[in-house]
Amino acid sequence: MRLDSNLQRVVITIGCALFLGGAAQSPRTPPEPKTGVGWLEKLQRDRLLLERQWAAEARDTKTVDAIDVVLKDPLKWQQARADLLAKVAGGAKSLAQLELPTKYEDPMAYAVLRNAASVIEAGNARKVFDVRPLFGTSTGGTFHALTRLVCPSDYVIVFHRQLFSLAHLFTSLFLAADGRSMFMRPDLIASVQNGLLAYLLEGNVDNVQVPRLTGKRQSQDGFMMTVITGFVVSHEYGHIIGKHFKPCDTKDGPEIGGDLRFDQAKEYSADATAFLQMLEWAKKDGYDPVDVFLAVDWQFAFNELLDRAGAVMTTGSEETVPESPWSDSSHPYTRFRREYLLTLATKLFPKDEERLNTARQMTSNLRYEMWQAARFRVFDEWNKKKVINSTVRR
Ligand SMILES: [Zn+2]
Repeated sequence: MRLDSNLQRVVITIGCALFLGGAAQSPRTPPEPKTGVGWLEKLQRDRLLLERQWAAEARDTKTVDAIDVVLKDPLKWQQARADLLAKVAGGAKSLAQLELPTKYEDPMAYAVLRNAASVIEAGNARKVFDVRPLFGTSTGGTFHALTRLVCPSDYVIVFHRQLFSLAHLFTSLFLAADGRSMFMRPDLIASVQNGLLAYLLEGNVDNVQVPRLTGKRQSQDGFMMTVITGFVVSHEYGHIIGKHFKPCDTKDGPEIGGDLRFDQAKEYSADATAFLQMLEWAKKDGYDPVDVFLAVDWQFAFNELLDRAGAVMTTGSEETVPESPWSDSSHPYTRFRREYLLTLATKLFPKDEERLNTARQMTSNLRYEMWQAARFRVFDEWNKKKVINSTVRR
């Protein structure tokens, strides 16, 4: 992996670290337009200042400059937010639990998605996008990301608001482990345990200690997060490019298209589109395709971990993974998506077969270790829940 910290990647790294959960809100309350500096903005600003301080200590002037740009010009983000609200007004209300806009009040979160979109569009040789899809977030549901058609011709991609925080936590843990066994690192094990429990119990991992990475590891973190974010966004773009949607009935004016449950073939097709897009992007900057594979594969691997933990918390058994609420039934099980990814990568890069398998081994080992380190805590929580439930029933 090349040492590289151009502005875009720096912004993405910081952005992911700052992709915060917000105020607890009842799921169907329409979002209030934000004016002035609320507590959330203050929190975001504080974190941004902390990042700036770290960057200054490390004499990383590019990061300092990038943060300064955002700190100085919040107005352009407010305008983007207002434009988006105007555009999806009406239709958005029928999307359960959707918060619009995508935390446009958080400039860095917006920067993450905007950069992901730019990366994908840059890698998209066919230039099929006249208009970039709109982004939204949701606090609920059992998905990580999904796309809706807003008739007649707009698309809204909705992300679980914890998606990028989670990805950033697990990617940092992956890099901090540095290819060695996690069992030598009690600090990392604590973060795995706390991260899983925070996600399962509170749906929020923002208070979990993310390992601080420096130097080469920090730039790898930027690279992996670009690939993971890009892959997730690009998978959704894949549904748009693949025309997986029912056409609109334009007589009725703007409305949100029907619930999207694609068949598994379409999911594999979207995965393939996303992987190819990220390879295309990486090729331009001279990145190793095996590193792209590693990042995407790690994203699937930690999702398997979440599936497993979710299964324990809902059924008390880790053998019920496919039925867990965290794995969307319209999507192939994560394990099969991983297998498909490896097959695809091996077909594309037959000479790298051995390195691809080594990368796979690495992600699988770490996922295994993380689960071994955390499973007893998850089972403890399940047992507590059982006690509470039986007490309530009496
Ligand atoms: Zn999909």
